[in-house]
Amino acid sequence: MTELEPGLPGRYAHVCAALEAAEAKAGREKGSVKLLAVGKTFNAEAVLECARAGARAFGENYAQEGCDKVDWFREHHPELGLEWHFIGPLQSNKTRPVAERFDWVQSIDRLKIAERLSAQRPAGMAPINLLIEVNIDGEDTKSGVTPAELPALAEAIEALPNVRLRGLMAIPAPADDHEARMKPLLAMRTLFAEFRKAHPQADTLSMGMSADLEEAVLAGTTMVRVGSAIFGARNYNR
Ligand SMILES: *Cc1c(COP(=O)(O)O)cnc(C)c1O
Repeated sequence: MTELEPGLPGRYAHVCAALEAAEAKAGREKGSVKLLAVGKTFNAEAVLECARAGARAFGENYAQEGCDKVDWFREHHPELGLEWHFIGPLQSNKTRPVAERFDWVQSIDRLKIAERLSAQRPAGMAPINLLIEVNIDGEDTKSGVTPAELPALAEAIEALPNVRLRGLMAIPAPADDHEARMKPLLAMRTLFAEFRKAHPQADTLSMGMSADLEEAVLAGTTMVRVGSAIFGARNYNR
């Protein structure tokens, strides 16, 4: 786990203000972009501090760590009613605990994972919300489908009973300058507009992190996923 540096409430407020400023600059309505706080590698107490600062939706990357945090909040702070998004790569042998705990999975890039989440979603829980991850830069090393693979996967997912296909997610490659950061974000905007013609119920385009938040808002994101700007730099030597 990464040790939390003091000052989280101030950092959280700063990110909220930056998001609001970006919405204004882009001519978008205040509150139109949802903020997901990404607490990977930080413990449940750090996430609790972020919830006390006002965050309600949280992203997790690792199945075991994320499930442990959801369980901790279910036990100790059910009154907070937090919303949990799984945003990391998900292996098929880890789908069951995720299906039993998370509200969203944003990293769907093959049908098998969506099928398992649908089959393993407990009766009595709302359908799990899914986003298809798109490899918008075409990087070999990255997860996500190509734009060409998207329509067939989306159609197959829509046929599953216990899931709701809510839209698309992307993790563009980091870039130094504004233009280079805008390019994949604008490509996602175009792809999402096309996607919504076939899937009009899709309402979520998840893109934008600490380093490209403002650009993502300009490019039409509906959900930014912010980790280090809120929690601080991560330490992966766990
Ligand atoms: C870690 C992570 C984030 C947050 O990244 P920061 O640069 O720390 O804001 C967002 N999305 C995904 C998928 C991540 O893995």
